[in-house]
Amino acid sequence: MMHEILPEVRAFLARAQKLLIGGEHVPAASGDTFETLDPATGLALARVAAGDAEDIARAVQAARTAFPAWAALMPAERERLLHRLADLMEAHRAELAQLETLDNGKPYRVAFNVEMNVAIGQLRYYAGWPTKLTGETYAVSSPDFHVYTRREPLGVCAAITPWNYSIVMATQKIGPALACGNTLVLKPAEQTPLAALRLGELALEAGIPPGVLNVVTGLGETAGAALSRHPGVDKIAFTGSTEVGRTIAATAAATLKHVSLELGGKSPLIIWDDADLEAAAEAAVWAIFSNSGQNCVAGSRLYVHTKVYDRVLEAVVKRTRQLNVGPGLAEDSDLGPLISQAQLDRALGFVERGALEGAALRTGGHRLGGALGAGYFLEPTIFDGVADDMAVGAAEIFGPVLSVFAFEDEDDVVRRANASPFGLAAGLWTNHLARAHRMAARLRAGVVWINTYDWFDPAVPFGGVGQSGYGRELGSQVMGMYTELKSVWVKL
Ligand code: NAP
Ligand code: MG
Repeated sequence: MMHEILPEVRAFLARAQKLLIGGEHVPAASGDTFETLDPATGLALARVAAGDAEDIARAVQAARTAFPAWAALMPAERERLLHRLADLMEAHRAELAQLETLDNGKPYRVAFNVEMNVAIGQLRYYAGWPTKLTGETYAVSSPDFHVYTRREPLGVCAAITPWNYSIVMATQKIGPALACGNTLVLKPAEQTPLAALRLGELALEAGIPPGVLNVVTGLGETAGAALSRHPGVDKIAFTGSTEVGRTIAATAAATLKHVSLELGGKSPLIIWDDADLEAAAEAAVWAIFSNSGQNCVAGSRLYVHTKVYDRVLEAVVKRTRQLNVGPGLAEDSDLGPLISQAQLDRALGFVERGALEGAALRTGGHRLGGALGAGYFLEPTIFDGVADDMAVGAAEIFGPVLSVFAFEDEDDVVRRANASPFGLAAGLWTNHLARAHRMAARLRAGVVWINTYDWFDPAVPFGGVGQSGYGRELGSQVMGMYTELKSVWVKL
């Protein structure tokens, strides 16, 4: 059975999608547009304005103009408006989830239940913050002064987001930026511009003043690069590839913008012989294959203790073969297509190279044909017999491809897990309490999940080390990344 496309989604798709600047729908100054595709069919979904440097300049100006009043708004009022946006997201949950499914390809069930829950939860968490931001007083070593700090917004922030979770990536940046009194220019990924545009409209409907949240769709090299260069932007929050993250940090350095980078990963998941092996195998399957492997924390390197290697590999392969790959709108799809032909080709390239280098293909490895042939569908794929330095086992594929390795002991697996230049996430399955905590400390990653995987909560910091980026999102400490501290000295 297929989900019916909602009339409001049809109506949205039929519109020419413009930029959202200063509360107005405007075409790109150049008049240029681009198409966004449905990855399940390869067909055009909608035509979207291609913003470039001139549009970015207009959006930054609109955000700058809106800034003083937004920053001066009573905190309780900012809270009310952010909650109102969260309410509207609830009310339009199905519509936003369908836009995400159509634009990105992911199963509707996942978009509706998981992605929308996370996105709304994040907004509500940040909606609670404006009234809780405080400064401190200091016991300076002189009786003559009263010294305190004020927490002030940065000004105009920019968010540059990827296509894999387009709604969550937007709310994760909109929430703290606006809660702290900043205004924002959001540049969504070119493959998934639609939900962000609808979110911008809902923000206006919620009563968030024009110019506080601007959405400029367009290409990374033009619109994204212009945001990183623009002297009127005070901070860039970026989620995406390591390569683009480096470019943005370098460009932003010229104007000393604050930069936070959430980048790629090649995260290890480690299963010990004492673990609940069935639960661990089930978790390993979802750790890599959820969102068709297009997940920054994908558990793409599975290390299994030699004593249970054959058993766990068999359980993981068996479960993987039971996954349904199909269009996101089909009710029984577990995995949707990859985002694009380019991403499919890239993943297939790694599969081919893995086989050439001598890794053993245990399941999958092929593009799906037949009725799915026009979309970018790839079978969930598992290799074992992977040497640590093979591309398939070391590079971030960002697709449904798992490499399985055997390990002997703790030092061996910690060394190999940490050998990656990335350091985003790690998973650990063991019932040995001391080992679990010891390894959590030894693994080089921004997050370690023990006997679980891929859990997020808006209250818990998230981010990576090494080539996975710097700065954290989520959690209370992120408020420090969207504000400046001002110290005030008063002579008594
Ligand atoms: P990407 O190519 O880095 O794109 C991310 C965003 O940056 C897009 O909006 C893109 O615009 C824009 N961009 C591209 N070139 C730019 C430039 N020169 N200057 C400024 N902006 C530019 O990454 P992606 O292909 O969308 O996503 C896949 C990657 O993101 C993976 O490596 C994955 O690990 C990483 N990721 C990380 C996290 C995390 O939280 N750590 C989460 C999700 C994804 P266009 O769309 O026009 O290219
Ligand atoms: Mg699309």
